[in-house]
Amino acid sequence: MRNENKKQRLSINLQIFISMIALTLVIIMLIWAFQMLFLKTIFESVKESSIEKASVDIAENIDSDDLNAYIARKTEEYDVSASVFKIIGQNSFENIYADENSTIITYEGNEEILSSWFNSAAQDKSYVYVPIKSSDELVYVRTVKIPIDPAIPDGEGVWYLVVLNTDIAPPAGTVIAIRNMLAIFSVVAIVASTIVSYALSRSISLPLSKMSKKAKSLTLYDYDVKFEEKGPREVSELATSLNSATAELKKLNDTQKELIANISHDLRTPLTMISGYSEVMRDFPDERSPENMQIIIDETARLNSLVNDLLTVSKLQSGTQIMDLKVISLTRVVEDTVKRYEKLLEHKEYKIFFESDGEVFVNADETRLLQVVYNLINNAINYTGEDKTVIVRQEIKGDVVRISVVDSGEGISEENLPLIWDRYYKVDKVHKRAVLGTGLGLSIVKNILLLHGSRFGVSSEVGKGSTFWFEFKVEKNG
Ligand code: ADP
Repeated sequence: MRNENKKQRLSINLQIFISMIALTLVIIMLIWAFQMLFLKTIFESVKESSIEKASVDIAENIDSDDLNAYIARKTEEYDVSASVFKIIGQNSFENIYADENSTIITYEGNEEILSSWFNSAAQDKSYVYVPIKSSDELVYVRTVKIPIDPAIPDGEGVWYLVVLNTDIAPPAGTVIAIRNMLAIFSVVAIVASTIVSYALSRSISLPLSKMSKKAKSLTLYDYDVKFEEKGPREVSELATSLNSATAELKKLNDTQKELIANISHDLRTPLTMISGYSEVMRDFPDERSPENMQIIIDETARLNSLVNDLLTVSKLQSGTQIMDLKVISLTRVVEDTVKRYEKLLEHKEYKIFFESDGEVFVNADETRLLQVVYNLINNAINYTGEDKTVIVRQEIKGDVVRISVVDSGEGISEENLPLIWDRYYKVDKVHKRAVLGTGLGLSIVKNILLLHGSRFGVSSEVGKGSTFWFEFKVEKNG
């Protein structure tokens, strides 16, 4: 199925080429159709308007002194032939001007036609015309009256008949010339569109095929490829996106490699301890002391918590975590955790204080909330300074309660502050403090607080200590 699809797909080059050629052919066909259909009509209308103008000019100057020269000039100007008649009686005409091409030559002696033209044209007293179209000749007739007494324009007068004719079929030579030009234009247009479509498709497809070649190397885990951000806007935008996707992939790949190294290291340390101590206790009965047994138990607990952390993170991030929200006492959860730590740290000179301003209840998943408090306190203890002191503070402000975990440790630099919430992120990359954790704690905290819709953050000063905090909406005060 996939292969079939692949076969049916045309390359960009071919698609652009086909579209351009199709467009050019349509345009050429339209131009040919136009010239076939409309050349004659356009030619006719041009001729009609010139013959009308010529007739008006001649009629208006019919009493001019040098009528012959005037008509000769006008007929040449408008490319028409003319005959002018003076009406001397019923059906009697005197030809006072005639071109050699004048149509009247054809009608010579045919007074009947001239009479009918005159009658039709004269019906309207002023300039009346009777155009007679044959297939390729247009005859245009106009009557004009010169009054005998110019003071009485409507009185007696001498009538004249102006007959103009012209060819309205486009000359064969012109038609052939236009056709030849069109043929040359068609060939040039097809060649030009081929060249343009080739150049256009190359400018689009070349960077794309380069990109696709490079993208293939991504599948072979080569994340050092760089996509050139050149070419048309969409192509260079694609390159930019691919570059940032590659950078992300590289980062992810590095993090994952680092994670595997870290986890293997974290797993190996307790495992080595467990197997080492077990072997010693097996081979030397004197070494079977409660202290040595305790080491094996502690290391097993570490392994357990590491595996649990990993599971929690993957559950939280995959979104399969179902929250069991209930109204619970936040103060009690924090207090219990602090107390448990107090016990644990009794012999290690750590001091942990809980400052509370009364009991508050919040809507939360107790197990998850406990993980948040546990992780923050655990970090504070792990990273606190010489005074080995950690303060956990609860402050109620209106309907919001804030829990802060304050330590006096080495603090976190400003550039690392936004990064510590990331999965597997450890400021201390060298991993010399394997005892301290997996780099998953704050990612767990962040994801749980996000699921609760809580605000949270950290303020820290290098050398002075850090304060991690989160807030919940107060459901009720105890
Ligand atoms: P870890 O298991 O390494 O403690 P976390 O996700 O809990 O992982 O913390 C991520 C990193 O943030 C730690 O490796 C540490 O560098 C830094 N960090 C967390 N809490 C503190 C703190 N209270 N003081 C200084 N640095 C801290």
